Amino acid sequence: MRTQVAIIGAGPAGLLLARLLENAGIGVLVLERRSPDYVLARIRAGVLEQGSVDLVDEAGVGARMRAEGLPHDGIEMRFDGDPLRIDFQARTGKRVLVYGQTELTRDLMEARAAAGAASVYAAEDVAIADFDTPHPSVTWRHGGALHAADCDFIAGCDGFHGATRASVPVEAINTFERVYPFGWLGVMADVPPVRDELIYAHHARGFALCSMRSRRRVRCYLQCPLDTDAADWSDERFWDELRRRLDPEIAEAMQTGPSIEKSVAPLRSFVAEPLRFGTLFLAGDAAHIVPPTGAKGLNLAASDVRYLAEGLIGHFRERSQAGLEHYSARALARIWKAERFSWWMTKLLHTFPDDSAFDRRVQRAEFDYLRGSAAAQTALAENYVGLPA
Ligand SMILES: Cc1cc2nc3c(=O)[nH]c(=O)nc-3n(C[C@H](O)[C@H](O)[C@H](O)COP(=O)(O)OP(=O)(O)OC[C@H]3O[C@@H](n4cnc5c(N)ncnc54)[C@H](O)[C@@H]3O)c2cc1C
Repeated sequence: MRTQVAIIGAGPAGLLLARLLENAGIGVLVLERRSPDYVLARIRAGVLEQGSVDLVDEAGVGARMRAEGLPHDGIEMRFDGDPLRIDFQARTGKRVLVYGQTELTRDLMEARAAAGAASVYAAEDVAIADFDTPHPSVTWRHGGALHAADCDFIAGCDGFHGATRASVPVEAINTFERVYPFGWLGVMADVPPVRDELIYAHHARGFALCSMRSRRRVRCYLQCPLDTDAADWSDERFWDELRRRLDPEIAEAMQTGPSIEKSVAPLRSFVAEPLRFGTLFLAGDAAHIVPPTGAKGLNLAASDVRYLAEGLIGHFRERSQAGLEHYSARALARIWKAERFSWWMTKLLHTFPDDSAFDRRVQRAEFDYLRGSAAAQTALAENYVGLPA
């Protein structure tokens, strides 16, 4: 078997890249370790920057997102009960779109199926070879048989625990990491959101976030210890704790219902450098992780894909190497700014178990400064809606 680009991983990064390349007439093979149902059952991100929305539109899969996505012009914040609204429209002229990662993934999967483009799901033991040469290859097992494909390039879109980054010799890659001393316990439920916008709340008992996926579906999070077992949290316990961390008026107005998903996610910042190793390119969570506080993970995956698609299309269509040569530096410049913002939002809003009284006063001063400064609010807004590509 032979293809031009072998894409490892059929999450949003892999599927979006596949769609952009196929639209440009480039041959693609997509290999995914899990089943389609498993991929669609994963509940993850839900806030799209304008640049991500534009890319999905450019890929020709934006119709449902446009029809069902909820435009948000700002966010609400609370610090120990004190309110602050960040007005994205007033500060930047931009907005974000609330549209679940699962829905975007479904749109991309359906578009591939409608175009007759096959992805190999349940591909086991995916391995990459010879990516330090112009003739890389991939192998995998499927249905008990071993398969192989030669290709021109490999795109590692296989997430944080994937096979591609792990195949790079340790001396060729640098990694930078911060692991936070807490996680997020998330619940999804089919009830209307308490407010039209997301509510980010700092509270002495821990951070809380009231997010949503639609006008009928909420996604709410509680900061929790790393060893939290979601099974120990009944729905009632979750909603009670969320109410404790919100203003009484919001807590009272909040509708609750049975959870349709409940899980714990650890918080981590991580970057691998560089993103190119010969004919292998890393994109999305395979290359970097952000804590979800700034809603950047999916959006960074999309901007990596934009740069990588431009580079690969330039190579195959115009015989230009410039896009591929600059891919790593171009993507990393944006990644590090999103890492900084996600770290900053996390530090501002969470309760850090080892913080001293001094640290807590500085955290409070950071919020007071934000509340009193148009410039600081603009800085938050322009990072949240997405820095220029
Ligand atoms: C639990 C959780 C909650 C999150 N919540 C938020 C949020 O609220 N807001 C936010 O902005 N971001 C959130 N994120 C981050 C966001 O979902 C990711 O940044 C986004 O999914 C990145 O897309 P990706 O395609 O790069 O990686 P992924 O979505 O991880 O996709 C990688 C794909 O590769 C496949 N794969 C892995 N290994 C192999 C292999 N060896 N062979 C073949 N295929 C393989 C995986 O099965 C997967 O389908 C969350 C992430 C997690 C894990």
